[in-house]
Amino acid sequence: MRVLITAGPTYEPIDAVRYLGNRSSGRIGADLAEAARRAGHTPSLIVGPITAEMPAGVLLQRVQTAAEMQAAVLGEFPKYDLLIMAAAVADYRPVSVSAGKIGRADGRLVIECEATEDIVAAASRIKRPDQRTIGFSLESRGNVTRSHEKLRRKGLDLIVYNPIDTMSSRLIEAVLIYPDGREEALPKQPKSTFADILLQRVASLFQS
Ligand code: C5P
Repeated sequence: MRVLITAGPTYEPIDAVRYLGNRSSGRIGADLAEAARRAGHTPSLIVGPITAEMPAGVLLQRVQTAAEMQAAVLGEFPKYDLLIMAAAVADYRPVSVSAGKIGRADGRLVIECEATEDIVAAASRIKRPDQRTIGFSLESRGNVTRSHEKLRRKGLDLIVYNPIDTMSSRLIEAVLIYPDGREEALPKQPKSTFADILLQRVASLFQS
């Protein structure tokens, strides 16, 4: 199976030197790529500006912004069976980017932002019957309801609920949520072990 995995943050420029970003390391993407390989699949990665090391020998495309990630994902997805969207895509970007460096001034600086494209929702809209999409949902602890809603809104075949403390940790305490509303709570475990389990569950997604 060909598996397309996204990981890491996106950086949305404010001016020539500053950006809006987040603390995602990309660790889970590396673990998912390794797990996909262990399971006999062919993984590829599309990553934002990550700090985690990516596995050698895996096809890797680097992007910076949500718009670049969207172009890369939608361009590549038709060649793949499965998209695992683990990237922490910025939800907002500055409406305009200052060409130089914004200087210090007294008072306040207001940065007007607009929503970025929802990449995995767009991928789900062009999904063929033989393709599947998986998303992640990083929520405050216990807020699984939002994950159910996101699975529906984004047209996913599975969503991984995980609490906010997962970010930049080597451990993940996930709940797998399926389109029929079924929840599978997994123990807190290393992301690499979790990645193996997720790849095992993927097989069942192609049976329906
Ligand atoms: O809505 P939220 O950002 O919590 O949704 C998380 C899921 O949606 C993740 O799988 C993330 O990769 C994906 N996402 C996306 N495009 C965005 C924002 C999030 O594909 N602009």
